[in-house]
Amino acid sequence: MSKYFKKWMNTVKLLITLLLLVSSLIGAELKELTWKKGETFLTFLQSHNIPQTLYFELEKNDRELCSEITAGIKYQVLEENNEMVQVLIPISEEMQLHLYKEKGEFVFTTSPISFEEITQTIAIPINYSPYQDLLDATSNKALANEFVRAFNQVANFKRMRKGDHVAIKYTQRIRMGQYYGTPTIHAALVEVKKKQTYIFKNDGDGLYYDEKGRNLTSFFMKTPVSYTRISDRFTYKRFHPILKRYRAHLGIDYAAPRGRKIYATASGKVIFKGRKGGYGKTIEIRHEGGFKSLYAHMSKYAPGVYSGKWVKQGTHIGYVGSTGVSTGPHLHFGLYKNGRAINPEKIIRVTKNTLKGKAKKEFIAYTKEVSQNLLDTIKNKPQPLNITQFDKQTDLKELLVAKVEA
Ligand SMILES: [Zn+2]
Repeated sequence: MSKYFKKWMNTVKLLITLLLLVSSLIGAELKELTWKKGETFLTFLQSHNIPQTLYFELEKNDRELCSEITAGIKYQVLEENNEMVQVLIPISEEMQLHLYKEKGEFVFTTSPISFEEITQTIAIPINYSPYQDLLDATSNKALANEFVRAFNQVANFKRMRKGDHVAIKYTQRIRMGQYYGTPTIHAALVEVKKKQTYIFKNDGDGLYYDEKGRNLTSFFMKTPVSYTRISDRFTYKRFHPILKRYRAHLGIDYAAPRGRKIYATASGKVIFKGRKGGYGKTIEIRHEGGFKSLYAHMSKYAPGVYSGKWVKQGTHIGYVGSTGVSTGPHLHFGLYKNGRAINPEKIIRVTKNTLKGKAKKEFIAYTKEVSQNLLDTIKNKPQPLNITQFDKQTDLKELLVAKVEA
């Protein structure tokens, strides 16, 4: 074991150490570690004495996935006799990179992250504020944040008083006995002096609408480049029948000639400008509503664009190129909502943001049913979710299963 590796291990914040309880693996230890700032997939391989060819022999999309690892993310390492034999690194809420040792060499694959999902409807009387009362009742910060964000433009929380209510129908992921990821709010209600304001998520575009099927988001996104064709589409978690493994492409590839201008898809703040592993020269912009956009493989940045700068929709930010892992000039465009990669085509296609005809009728019928359900919940006051009942050993099982397969 190298001196460098020992030093690295010492500096990593050890969050949880769980001993495996399975007799065949006594001596094995599972550690949860935090991905350091500045660490890349390549430096990670280096510090574990894994040849970098493992990375360079990966195909383009897999190398792009390695650039999706974000600093601060928690990942799991399985050690046997103090030596790493397996590692699981999440690259999204649903997918992870999986390295495991087989016949003395490391093998790279991607696999879905296992979690449980709970959908429930809760109602909470207001004592202090919707955010604080939700947090007190559920201990779920992500839920309280998403709730406030969802109602941002439609309800004035300052007018809420004791005796008012909020009700939410949502789905929360649970992993290792903890809340996992950002919950999906399907519908919610704010009741002020018995007067109700509702929001409903439209699954088609992931945006919130009111009970009349009107879009509540003024915000929309524009295609960031004038492209010749789409050379690769978004796939979140597709099982490849021939390769017998999961594949993912967390963005959309727009083929376009080198040097073509790239524009900000919507207004926001530039939060990253620089090289990002396989993505090459990259810019990231944070937008309202929990959205983030990513533009990769640029040949050059536009002059005057820097991290921290506010840009308007349509601002020229860079030029098409093929830096990083790229087979030809194209723009890899990624879109994220609350840190979760989403399909840009779903959002960009609904630029006009209105439901029409049959879809609108169906949506309104749906809102009637759900709003009644929310009102009933306020009357019945069910208890918020208790997560202690959930399995804390999910990750151990994943690693063990993988080991048996290997
Ligand atoms: Zn791509």
